[in-house]
Amino acid sequence: MPAPSVETYRPETRLVHAGALRSAFGEISEALFLTQAYLYESAEECEARFSGKIPGYVYSRYSNPTMSMFEQRMAALEGAEAARATATGMAAVTTALMGLVRSGDHVVAAKALFGSCRWVIEEWLGRFGVTSTLVDGVDLEQWRRAVTRNTKVFFLESPTNPTLEVYDIGAIAEIAHAAGAKLVVDNVFATPLYQRPLALGADCVVYSATKHIDGQGRVLGGIILGSEKFIMDHVHQVIRQTGPSLSPFNAWVLLKGLETLSVRVERATRTAAAVADALAGHPKITRLIYPGRKDHPQAATIAKQMTGGSTLCSFEVKGGKEGAFRFLNALKLVGITNNLGDAKSLVTHPTTTTHQRLTPAQRAELGIGDGLVRFSAGLEHPDDLIGDLLGALEAV
Ligand SMILES: *Cc1c(COP(=O)(O)O)cnc(C)c1O
Repeated sequence: MPAPSVETYRPETRLVHAGALRSAFGEISEALFLTQAYLYESAEECEARFSGKIPGYVYSRYSNPTMSMFEQRMAALEGAEAARATATGMAAVTTALMGLVRSGDHVVAAKALFGSCRWVIEEWLGRFGVTSTLVDGVDLEQWRRAVTRNTKVFFLESPTNPTLEVYDIGAIAEIAHAAGAKLVVDNVFATPLYQRPLALGADCVVYSATKHIDGQGRVLGGIILGSEKFIMDHVHQVIRQTGPSLSPFNAWVLLKGLETLSVRVERATRTAAAVADALAGHPKITRLIYPGRKDHPQAATIAKQMTGGSTLCSFEVKGGKEGAFRFLNALKLVGITNNLGDAKSLVTHPTTTTHQRLTPAQRAELGIGDGLVRFSAGLEHPDDLIGDLLGALEAV
């Protein structure tokens, strides 16, 4: 009996079944193909596969069955025609950006960026003669005004790290397209379950699969998704020829991670919402940001374009850096790190870690105070986490 096409199923079902390639052994769990290259029946077949005249795997720098399964499962989830996996989230961001620009071009990006994304745009692209303008992502007028004759790319993350600001992806895509530019969205914080940038008008979506997609703190990975034309025009050759490729082993870990993504993300979101509600109004907390709460500054945009809140919540602890450090050091269950999207709940102090490279003025502009803490909800019981967080606030 032929299986119905995966498009007819809901996201939770796609996460478990989409993209599976079964070998002759009929294995249930997807196979791990740890191989660099492939054998051909004849020199003629080898020639035909190399030239692309017949389909088939050639070399694992750019094609491998386990990598394909991960790419196809992500594409099915995202509603994308094509996807290419990469070694890390930064490899995905860099490949997508470098594939779109050449010397003399211009990039517009929201200034609230993951630290390495900001470095790539300001420093790395700059070395190759690509200029950039950073804007306040909430302010559509700033996006419009930043456009020049050479603007080729708009880039943004939403929700942002660590202040969880949310940008109007549809409106920004319209401005980009009117300028003849492509919009690339880093969708890590939303996850593919809560926001689908391609459906909102973006041309390309990138992920650090290191975060929720693995979700258990084990491997690094990334992925770039878009239309078949976008991937072939801007991504395929860059990956094939320069090699920022995902290891088949890591592709397999991420593929299996996808099977439990919805269960983990839903649970962590409920926990993050419960933590936000427990901390809101606490006398030691001066500001609390959670994308699922009515008091979020972009609540209307969230209602329009997202189907869920967040597994993260950020808050400002009284007493600046000293207050935040006292709080972090008093935590017994929640771990101090710079990572997020793990089964273990984690806290980060952005000023001294992810955003250390920025000047105090640049941080202030982004709303990152010295007391700001980012909390990433894991899979522990919410009451144990709330107990730990409230207990640690006593030390502030
Ligand atoms: C972590 C992260 C990245 C980078 O991903 P790596 O897998 O660590 O290279 C990029 N963007 C965002 C928003 C992230 O959270």
